[in-house]
Amino acid sequence: MNLLRFFRRAAPEKPIVPMWPDTRRHAVAIKGFMPEAEGLRLYELAYAASAHGPCVEIGSYCGKSAIYLGDGCRTRGQHRLFSIDHHCGSEEQQPAQEYFDPELFDESLGRVNTLPHFVRNLRDAGLEDWVLPIVGHSCTVAASWPAASVALVFIDGGHSKSAVQADYQAWSDRIMPGGWLLFHDIYLHPAEGGQAPREVYEAALASGKWKDEGLFGSLGILRRK
Ligand code: SAH
Ligand code: MG
Repeated sequence: MNLLRFFRRAAPEKPIVPMWPDTRRHAVAIKGFMPEAEGLRLYELAYAASAHGPCVEIGSYCGKSAIYLGDGCRTRGQHRLFSIDHHCGSEEQQPAQEYFDPELFDESLGRVNTLPHFVRNLRDAGLEDWVLPIVGHSCTVAASWPAASVALVFIDGGHSKSAVQADYQAWSDRIMPGGWLLFHDIYLHPAEGGQAPREVYEAALASGKWKDEGLFGSLGILRRK
């Protein structure tokens, strides 16, 4: 047993500095779906992971979670966050659906378009060099990424069973040994929210490929064995 390796793996990798207060305030203020406590956990995880390789987010929306993850990358100062979204919104964000926001509807395109909001929020947070937008469908993008090349994947795109399943299938093998796979919106009771992410997260756990690092709020944290 290599003792040094054991201690290195076991050592907590907390950031040396907390999230920058201005950036944190900015993340709290903008539109989106990320409670502050979970966001701060994303900051810590991105800080730890980005020492080893790039991080990938599925579901940029207006940039809330990207600011927490991106600031973790900036504090570490090594690898960056690639944030993927087609920017047309998920099913539940379309006109007449529960999470439709008229401010995000582009009349000239005749559809939801979150890209200008995302770009502006990254600029205002000073994170343009650390969060790199990729505009496209998550699975199309995955096809061009090599296996075992990513240190952290955060799945927060479409929330239907087929969408979460497709994201898991497309991205799980892109994660390097020791890398993190994070699922957002894991709810233990149906009254709290949709169960599709939880079902995929539990199937991933049952596959035996991942070490369970627990739940933090609605954030399911897995680590590649
Ligand atoms: N992480 C965000 C919330 C994401 S909402 C926050 O912190 O606020 C989900 C987003 O996923 C939407 O913006 C939607 O456009 C995007 N999305 C849904 N399915 C997608 C897919 N297959 N590929 C890329 N983006 C997708
Ligand atoms: Mg979410």
